[in-house]
Amino acid sequence: MIKISVLGSTGSIGTQALEVIAEHPQLFSVEVLTACRNADLLINQARRFVPDTVVIADEQFYHKVSEALSSLPIKVYAGSEALEQVASYSSVDLVLVALVGYSGLIPTIRAIEAKRRIALANKETLVVAGKLVMSLAASHKVPIIPVDSEHSAIFQCLAGEYASIDKLYLTASGGPFLHTIVQDLAKVNRQQALAHPRWNMGAKITVDSATMMNKGFEVIEAHHLFGVAADKIEVLVHPQSIIHSMVQFDDGAIKAQLGEPDMRIPIQYSFTYPHRAKTSSPRIEWATYPTLSFMKPDANKFRCLVIAYEALRRGGNTPCVVNAANEVAVEAFLSDRIAFTDIARIIESVMERTSFIEEPSLDDCIASNIEAVRIASEIIQ
Ligand code: MN
Repeated sequence: MIKISVLGSTGSIGTQALEVIAEHPQLFSVEVLTACRNADLLINQARRFVPDTVVIADEQFYHKVSEALSSLPIKVYAGSEALEQVASYSSVDLVLVALVGYSGLIPTIRAIEAKRRIALANKETLVVAGKLVMSLAASHKVPIIPVDSEHSAIFQCLAGEYASIDKLYLTASGGPFLHTIVQDLAKVNRQQALAHPRWNMGAKITVDSATMMNKGFEVIEAHHLFGVAADKIEVLVHPQSIIHSMVQFDDGAIKAQLGEPDMRIPIQYSFTYPHRAKTSSPRIEWATYPTLSFMKPDANKFRCLVIAYEALRRGGNTPCVVNAANEVAVEAFLSDRIAFTDIARIIESVMERTSFIEEPSLDDCIASNIEAVRIASEIIQ
């Protein structure tokens, strides 16, 4: 029985993780559930799974949650400090980090320090402080198992391999604007950006997919997880999203991991690794996909992808700055305060206006995040 903490249980990954857990009650149990502010769903989940502890990060919902669960043997806490504390519970075997954005960083670090196995769905943790997080995990001998579908695919391709990697192919659906001409991008609205053709995800990551910043962050994530340089990671647009990513080895052989787009598979693999368990996920009907197609992403249209590569090449605190500027810009776009094409423009000017730190400490990352959020907010105003 694997005891699991689900950090971010009310989001897209969190709810699917609970479906996986519910499908295998003999394999998995829930020890901790945390949510940001979706108190109603958190209460329902807690009643169903009866974890040891629940945390609601937004303190104004504490009374609502604790009263609703008062008849059950569940500890209820509120606030971001409580979230960091439960991440280090020693009664837990595995911590699924499914928090959104920068907020995933400190809980992930606490879980690593407590030597808990990490299933990482929060790519921003590695974008913001990948070098620090990976070296901390190595020194504590903590495995970080990727949940992101592309990285899970690569991780699965590498299982049992001793060969060195010649190249990684990260596949991308291309998002809702794959066929939009670049001149029309400035006019696209929030509804259009949120209509992802292949994956059903939360709002922030869906906008990141539309700009392809999500893929850019995944390049940075892959760099840290697999120790591969930026120029050996190629993004390949593959609209069917059947090949989830590929590894090319030194002899030229390529391994790919395939399947219908279904996040429950990489989530479950991160729980069962190095084993597998049955799922009820839909199997591929190959005749439905007579053609699998591939193309290079359009660098003029997807500026954010170019920015992410540039951030990785510059290194230091640049990816952290880009992430912060992106979070502010995406939020502004989602509340109709800026145009879609302003997102890349804002990130670029924040990059030029923040101070560069070659080898950032954790405190430097925290300070860089604050500085970049401030500058991005000023630009938007
Ligand atoms: Mn992904």
